[in-house]
Amino acid sequence: MVQCAALKCTVKSGQGLSMYLFPKEPHLRKIWTVKLKRDNFVPSDYTKLCERHFEKSQFVMNPEVVASVGFRPKSKMLVNGAIPTLFDLSDPKDKHGKRSLTQTQTSKPSRKFSVIEKRRRLEVN
Ligand SMILES: [Zn+2]
Repeated sequence: MVQCAALKCTVKSGQGLSMYLFPKEPHLRKIWTVKLKRDNFVPSDYTKLCERHFEKSQFVMNPEVVASVGFRPKSKMLVNGAIPTLFDLSDPKDKHGKRSLTQTQTSKPSRKFSVIEKRRRLEVN
C-alpha cells in the first residue's frame, strides 16, 4: 500500500485514484520535489503522487472528456513532463487558513474532484 507523498493528502493506492511514481529524469524529479514543499523531503524510487495534484491539462486524455463519453480507463496517463500543481498548503495554525488548494492555473480543481467522485461512484455501482 503506497500513500500519496503530498502533504495532507490521505490518498493511498487501491482507492480508485491513479498514483504516479516520481519521474526518473533528475530535473523533473527536482521540480516535483520542490512543488511538494516538504522540508528535507527526498523521494525514493517508490514515492508516488496521486492524480489529485495534477491539472486536467497534465493528462493525456482530459478526464472530463473521458467521463462525458462514458469511458473509464483503469489509469490515466500523464503527459510527458507533467508537473503537479494542486496542493493543499494551508497552514493549520493560521486562523485565517482556508482549506483551499493552491493553483497556478485558472482551472477549477473542485470541479475536477467532482468528476472523480462521480467516476468512483460509477465504479462502485
Ligand atoms: Zn495526493
